[in-house]
Amino acid sequence: MPLKNIAIIGAGLAGATLANRLTQAGRDVTIYEKSRGTGGRLASCRLGDTPTNLGAPWFQPESKAFHDWLLNQPDIQERVLEPQDFNGSPLAPVTVLSVDPYQSCMTRRLTEGAILNTGVRISALHSSENGVTLEDANGRKIARHDAVVVTTPAPQALPLLAPVDDFVRLAASVDTLPTWVTVVGLEQGCGAGSSYLCGQHPVLSRAICHQRTPLPGTHSNTKPFQEIWQLEANADWSLDHEDSPSREVAVKMLESFSRITQQTLKITGLRSHRWLYARHESPLTDDYLWSDKQYVGACGDWFRHDGSEGAWLSANALADKLLQEDA
Ligand SMILES: Cc1cc2nc3c(=O)[nH]c(=O)nc-3n(C[C@H](O)[C@H](O)[C@H](O)COP(=O)(O)OP(=O)(O)OC[C@H]3O[C@@H](n4cnc5c(N)ncnc54)[C@H](O)[C@@H]3O)c2cc1C
Repeated sequence: MPLKNIAIIGAGLAGATLANRLTQAGRDVTIYEKSRGTGGRLASCRLGDTPTNLGAPWFQPESKAFHDWLLNQPDIQERVLEPQDFNGSPLAPVTVLSVDPYQSCMTRRLTEGAILNTGVRISALHSSENGVTLEDANGRKIARHDAVVVTTPAPQALPLLAPVDDFVRLAASVDTLPTWVTVVGLEQGCGAGSSYLCGQHPVLSRAICHQRTPLPGTHSNTKPFQEIWQLEANADWSLDHEDSPSREVAVKMLESFSRITQQTLKITGLRSHRWLYARHESPLTDDYLWSDKQYVGACGDWFRHDGSEGAWLSANALADKLLQEDA
């Protein structure tokens, strides 16, 4: 029997890609997402009225498949950046693809054919011959579907994959790393010679300017931002400060940025976020997980390839498998 009515847990790139493939093929798809919006680690946030990136700032596809697919998306823009290291020395140009105006617009669009339930955290799955029942964070059984695919980071997938012991063991074997991000709106330009600074630094791994002039037509009570910078802390520093208060982290990251740019920053908007499971260190060698007995599966960036490309490849591999069952 084809699986008609499929639930997806998580509306990041993997969940949105899978939802798009399945709805295009005529399946009924319902997404359950614990956050207020789509995107997952491609999420955006608001500084005043201005939306901006809070997670992965862009894509750098390695496979032709991901590259070609991205270029076919209506909201993708290609940019050639001329980065500098944190000392101001020029580095080789890099080409990146990003979603205009911010990354999570694409996941929102990809989920349009599905029913999207945001603000719903799923805490358990119960598999039976009648399908898979979803339990929410209050212990309520909220829906039953023919099959459920988990697209969360591996540690968050652990309790959801309980119907299949092997899946729990595999998810538990994947290590993760946190990343602190601070997004800052500046009243005046900070004078950096490039919109992309990166390299060796005791605190930061990169600093990316997403906006260099005030956006036209925004009606904000706050002063307009001349520049919006996304500061990303490096892996070691993020791990050392995993449990530090976000205010303390923001101060340290901004001090570093101020020293790099040799400017006193005029800050008019600030947001810090700890991505507890920013990256998976030891992806599995499988492309995805799927159980024909329990009708439970998983895909995301902890399979074969990491990063957003890994999430996309894994979701497509599982979509191929589920759709091939019909053929
Ligand atoms: C700061 C930062 C920078 C990055 N930079 C890059 C980069 O330059 N290049 C690159 O390739 N990758 C980068 N990444 C990694 C990239 O963002 C991820 O690999 C990719 O977005 C993962 O997509 P996903 O769909 O697999 O998972 P996610 O985006 O994590 O999506 C999972 C979703 O599941 C939801 N969820 C979790 N638990 C539950 C639950 N119980 N119930 C309901 N919903 C739930 C989450 O809220 C989330 O929306 C970066 C990540 C971060 C955080």
